[in-house]
Amino acid sequence: MGRAFSLGKVFGIEFRLHYTWFVIFILVTVSLVSPHWLSPLYWIMAIAASLLFFASVLAHELAHSLVGRANGIPVKSITLFIFGGGALMTREATRPNAELKMAAAGPACSLAIGGLFALIWLVTRGVATSVAEMAGWLAVINIALAVFNMIPGFPLDGGRIFRAILWRTTGNYQRSTLLAIWVGRGVAYLFILGGILIILLHPFGLSWFDGMWLAFIGWFLGNAASASYRQARWSETATD
Ligand SMILES: [Zn+2]
Repeated sequence: MGRAFSLGKVFGIEFRLHYTWFVIFILVTVSLVSPHWLSPLYWIMAIAASLLFFASVLAHELAHSLVGRANGIPVKSITLFIFGGGALMTREATRPNAELKMAAAGPACSLAIGGLFALIWLVTRGVATSVAEMAGWLAVINIALAVFNMIPGFPLDGGRIFRAILWRTTGNYQRSTLLAIWVGRGVAYLFILGGILIILLHPFGLSWFDGMWLAFIGWFLGNAASASYRQARWSETATD
């Protein structure tokens, strides 16, 4: 991943922002303000909610990184970019249990943060409406993040968990990786197809923009799965 700049270290792990992150930050903030363009309160709340959302993504990646490091998988840096975040490991897991724990830590963290915001929403509901509104949004988005990441296709967390379970059961790392990548590719094609159907048919009041976004995520996942595939094929040849 190219153009990213460093913001310093968190727990000894370098934290980087990719330039595409600014695009998603502006998109999220603007969509939260809309249509209250002239309300300073909405702007402040939207920016705060956006920052808290990206702090949640950072916490998700940090959970992967810290659990990984505790299990012998050192993490060099965390980068936030247009599709969320990614942790750069210095090497792949050599034991399925380490991989399983590291992969599960992210969604577990998002679920916990989602639960915390749901609690804040419950307490502030009817007392401080704007705080409750923000907490409610953050609860939903963090739980959605956990659920989305649990889709069992590589390179999503669920795909890594799926691979780790297969790997532990069969003892075959390469074959487990390839299978998880094939599921990942299937998921990517379904996202692209879903995106195109949304653009053409607008079901459930979804807009062309939602469709574009879904297709775009599918395209990104497909590319990431293909890159993992080439790498896995290459290491298969190298070890044969
Ligand atoms: Zn994750």
